[in-house]
Amino acid sequence: MQTKVIRITDPIETEAHLNEAADILRSGGLVVFPTETVYGLGGNGLSQEAAEKIYAAKGRPSNNPLIIHVHDPAEADKYAFAGDLYDRLAAAFMPGPLTVILPKRDNIPYATTGGLETVAVRCPDHPVAHALLAVCDFPVAAPSANLSGSPSPTCADHVISDLTGRVDMIIDGGQCEIGLESTIVKIDHDKEGEYLTLLRPGAITCDALTCVCERVIIANAVLEQLKEGERPLSPGMMYKHYAPKIPLVLLDGDPADVLAFLQKEQKDKSCAILCYLEEMPQLKDENLFLVGARDDLVTQAHTLFSLLREADKTSASIIYAHLPPRDGLGLALYNRLIRAAAHTVKNI
Ligand code: AMP
Ligand code: MG
Repeated sequence: MQTKVIRITDPIETEAHLNEAADILRSGGLVVFPTETVYGLGGNGLSQEAAEKIYAAKGRPSNNPLIIHVHDPAEADKYAFAGDLYDRLAAAFMPGPLTVILPKRDNIPYATTGGLETVAVRCPDHPVAHALLAVCDFPVAAPSANLSGSPSPTCADHVISDLTGRVDMIIDGGQCEIGLESTIVKIDHDKEGEYLTLLRPGAITCDALTCVCERVIIANAVLEQLKEGERPLSPGMMYKHYAPKIPLVLLDGDPADVLAFLQKEQKDKSCAILCYLEEMPQLKDENLFLVGARDDLVTQAHTLFSLLREADKTSASIIYAHLPPRDGLGLALYNRLIRAAAHTVKNI
C-alpha cells in the first residue's frame, strides 16, 4: 500500500487535505491524525471492515477495543447510552484527554468494541483532529498509531517508521502536546449510586475527576501486574505495552543514592539513562536522555515515549529510568513506565 504523508502548514491547503482524508475514511481506508495526546490510527467507527483493517495495520489483537472519536461530546448519544454523569464529565473535560466507556448502541459494530457491549468515546482537543472529525459524518475509531507493543507515537516520524505501507494517509501535525494517551474511565453503578472506575490514568487526574464524581476507584491493572488468568476491566491492560526492545529497569530510592548508582553503572556497563535535569551535570553524556526536571511531570509526560524510542536505538544493554510518584500526573507516568519495564523495579 502507498502511504501519502501530508504536512499541515497552510489553512487553505489543509481544508483540501482534510476533505481527502475524510473521503479515504468514508470509503473504508485508514488515516493517521494528530491529537493532543498521541497520534491516532483512524478508520470509520461504524464499519466492521475498517476495524479489522486497523487491527491488521497495528498488529493488534482484535479483542482489544478501539476508542471512537467524535467532533462534539454531545454526539456520544448517537452511538452510546450517555447519561447525566457523562454530560457532567463532558462539560468539565471535553474536548480533552478523557475517554468515557458507555453502553453501546446497535450502530457500533462489535469489531470496533472487541466484542464488548460497551464503547469508548472521546472528543479530542486538537485543531487538526477537530477539523477532520467535523467533515466526517461518522465517528472515527482510532487506537494509538504505533505498531502493537511499541511506545505510542508523539510525532509523525514515529508513525512513519511504524506504519508506512500499512495505512493510506498520515497527517503530520507536529508534536503532540501531552504525549501520553487519554485517561479512560468507565461509568458504573452500585446500590450507593454512580461511580467511576479509572481504567487508564492520563492527563485528567484522579483529583480532577473527583471534582465531578465523588467516588473514583482505580482498577487493579493500573498499578499492579495481573495475576495469571485474571481478566482486566480494560482488555488493553492484558498486553505488554510500550516496551522497548532493550530491557528497561526503574529505579526507586533516595535521589543521592540513585545518582551514585547511575554513576557507577555508567563506569561498569553500557547503559542508557532517562535522567532528570538536576542529575545531568553529574552524569556522562553518552546515551543520556533528559526527561525534564524532577518535579516537572508535564514535561516528563511530553518526552517519555519519544525518549523510550531514542534509548531503544542505542547499543546499550540496559535502560534505566526513575520510578515516578503515584499521584497527580505521576500516576499516568507510573502506569506507562511500570508496564514498559514489565514491572522491573530496583530499590536502591
Ligand atoms: P489505544 O487506543 O491504543 O489508546 O487503546 C485503547 C484502550 O482503550 C485499550 O487499552 C482498550 O482496552 C481500552 N478500551 C477501549 N474500549 C473499551 C471498552 N469498551 N471497555 C474497556 N476498555 C476499553
Ligand atoms: Mg495504544
